[in-house]
Amino acid sequence: MSWNVKQWWEARHNGKAATAAMQASPAGSGLRAAATFAARLTFEKVERSYDANDALRGVDLDIAPGEVVCLLGPSGCGKTTLLRIASGIERPTAGRVLINGSEVAGPSRFVPPEQRSVGLMFQDFALFPHLTILQNVAFGLKGLAPDVARREAVSVLSRVGLESYANSYPHILSGGQQQRVALARAIVPRPSVVLMDEPFSGLDVQLRDSMQEETLALLRETRATCMIVTHHPEEAMRLGDRIAVMRAGRVVQLGRAEELYHHPAELFVARLFSEINELDVTVKGGVIDMPFGRVPAPGMANGERATMCIRERGIRLRPAGTCGLAGRVLHVKFLGDFGLVEIGVQGFDEPLRARTRVAVGESWRKGAEVGVEIDPERILVFPRVRQETA
Ligand code: ADP
Ligand code: MG
Repeated sequence: MSWNVKQWWEARHNGKAATAAMQASPAGSGLRAAATFAARLTFEKVERSYDANDALRGVDLDIAPGEVVCLLGPSGCGKTTLLRIASGIERPTAGRVLINGSEVAGPSRFVPPEQRSVGLMFQDFALFPHLTILQNVAFGLKGLAPDVARREAVSVLSRVGLESYANSYPHILSGGQQQRVALARAIVPRPSVVLMDEPFSGLDVQLRDSMQEETLALLRETRATCMIVTHHPEEAMRLGDRIAVMRAGRVVQLGRAEELYHHPAELFVARLFSEINELDVTVKGGVIDMPFGRVPAPGMANGERATMCIRERGIRLRPAGTCGLAGRVLHVKFLGDFGLVEIGVQGFDEPLRARTRVAVGESWRKGAEVGVEIDPERILVFPRVRQETA
C-alpha cells in the first residue's frame, strides 16, 4: 500500500486504528488464511463518553458464535460507537469487551484491532479509489505472501461475482458492486467476527432486497459471528437472528423479531415494529374500559395513566350495522395492497387509523358508515412515561 493511500484512508476514518481494523491478520498467517472459527462477542456495561456527551451508557450484549445480531435504533443512539468499540478503533470509557471470553478492551487489557480477528465494513464502503478492485480486496490481508494474498482475494472476488473487474478501479462500479467489494474485503481474512455499519443504506430500494439476501448467504458461508447496524426495522427483521434495539446509548430490548413485535418492552419498541394508534387512557381496578370492551392492565395501579396502542392492522371495517362499533370514514388513502383509512368511531375522542386490505371492487369512501372491529390481540398497554426520542 502506498503512503498516499494510507494517509487518505486514515484522514477519512479516524487514524491508524481504522487501517489496522481493515487489516486483520489471518490466524496462522504466512502461508494461507485459516478457516473461520466463529467467536462469542460480549459487551459488559460498556460506556463511552465524548466530553459531556454520553454516547454509550452501559451496554450489555452477548452474541453467540455464528449468530447474526442487528443493532437497531435511531440516528445518534450509539450504534456506530458500539461497532467501533468492538473493532478496537475506539476504546470504551468504562466496561469490558470480550471475544470468546477473553478481554479485548477493558481496565486491564487492550487488544489492537489487527489482533482481534474482526472484519469491518463501513457505511460508505470506503473503497480506495487509487487501488484496483483486487488490490482493495487484498488490502484486508496482512502478512500473507503476495501470491497467496492474490489467490485468496481472487477467490473471494469470484464468490461475489466480480472476478472480471479485478483490474478495474472502484469508480466504474455500481453501488451494489461496490458493496460486494467492500464485503469481500471484510471477509477475505476469514475473520471470526464481522461488523457492518449500515451496509445497505447507500443502495436504492430495489437493489437492497437482493443484496441483503446475498450478504446473508455469504455471512452464513463464512460462519462468522456478525453484528449489523441498521436503522430500518424491516432490514433488522430480515437479517438478524436477534435484534438489539438501542435508544440513547442503551440496549432497551434484545430478542427475536417475533418477540420484539409481540412483546415490545416499551412504547418506543412497539412504534418501531408496527404502525399504531396511541390513546391516553386511565386504569381502573386493573382494567381499562373501552367502548369495545375491557382491556386488562396487569400490574398497573388504580388511577394510573397509560398509553393504549391499537395496531393499525388490528382494526377491521365491516358493512355498517353488521358488527362492531359504529363509525364513519373520514379519509381514505389507497396504498396498493392495503388502504389507510381514518375513521371516526363511536366512543373515541380521536379518529382511529386502520390499515386494511382492499378487495377488488370494494372501496371505503369518505363519509361512508362502517362497522369497526378491533382485534383484542393487537392491543398493547404501556405505563405512561415521557418518551425520550433518541
Ligand atoms: P449512531 O451510529 O447510532 O447514529 P453514533 O454512535 O455515531 O450514533 O453517535 C452516538 C453519539 O455520540 C452522538 O451523539 C454523536 O454525536 C456522538 N459521537 C460519536 N462519535 C463522536 C466523536 N468522535 N466525538 C464526539 N462525539 C461523538
Ligand atoms: Mg452510525
